Amino acid sequence: MGTEVDYAREIQELKRSMNAVILAHYYQESEVQDLADFVGDSLALAQAAAATKADVIVFCGVHFMAETAKILNPARQVLLPDLKAGCSLSDRCPPGAFKAFKEKHPGAFVVSYVNSSAAVKAMSDVIVTSSNAVKIVNQVPKDRQVLFAPDQHLGRYVMKQTGRDMVLWPGSCIVHEIFSEKRLVQLKVEHPEAEVVAHPECEAAVLRHADFIGSTKALLDYVLKSPKEKFIVVTEAGILHQMKKGAPDKTFIPAPPDNGCACNECPYMRLNTLEKLWRCMKDRTPELVMPEELREAARAPLQRMLEWSA
Ligand code: SF4
Repeated sequence: MGTEVDYAREIQELKRSMNAVILAHYYQESEVQDLADFVGDSLALAQAAAATKADVIVFCGVHFMAETAKILNPARQVLLPDLKAGCSLSDRCPPGAFKAFKEKHPGAFVVSYVNSSAAVKAMSDVIVTSSNAVKIVNQVPKDRQVLFAPDQHLGRYVMKQTGRDMVLWPGSCIVHEIFSEKRLVQLKVEHPEAEVVAHPECEAAVLRHADFIGSTKALLDYVLKSPKEKFIVVTEAGILHQMKKGAPDKTFIPAPPDNGCACNECPYMRLNTLEKLWRCMKDRTPELVMPEELREAARAPLQRMLEWSA
């Protein structure tokens, strides 16, 4: 069958017959984003997953995002086109080592980035995304020491914004850590009229050259509203699709420049293809399942995130 399948049409039909909703992250392939009912960043997708009445959530993102959907809305069947779509940040924070880290700081308030496993979430007091991290850390009781995991760069950015001292887990994202300061400065020299927009998962040395720092959604909103015509975009290149759709006359330059290297694309996110999306809906597998005890333990800090970011 393979190439003869009209994936887009079949996916639409399956969606109706299964009463499914397709949620897609901004870092998905353009063709997957265009078929989704909702495209968003981690926070918006978690909110959409929690609210949906559809019987099936087809999650086009990475494993921890599908896990979050299941934790927040357990009555729904959650499908993920490729179960191997992991995340380097989450992988670099194994639950056993995280437990030992926590034990070294008894009584501390544990803030974990949503890019973490359910087991790590279950050991946390509150979860954050890059959209709400500053707002949430500002609400942590002032008399508590704060542990922040697993992204050290986002943690450092949040420390700067909130003035809160935090103990950081030394993790980073393989996509956001590759942006080099040198190449960014070169790009700025080549395009002096461009504004630089960057995600807070980038290193501080890169962030200091940014005109605007924000979550994926905040970057999108910013470039659409800005009177500027040209932008250097320092985050996963998948977001360029929505930027170009929203402002076709503006110019978006991915950092590093498109020179054949795809290292600014998340290799995990890109595991989901249109064919795998179609196949997972048709076969209703792979399905995200988790032990109820773990789900319940991870739900409380996620729920707190939704309340504190409302
Ligand atoms: S872009 Fe980085 S943080 Fe996001 S899913 Fe990929 S590896 Fe994880």
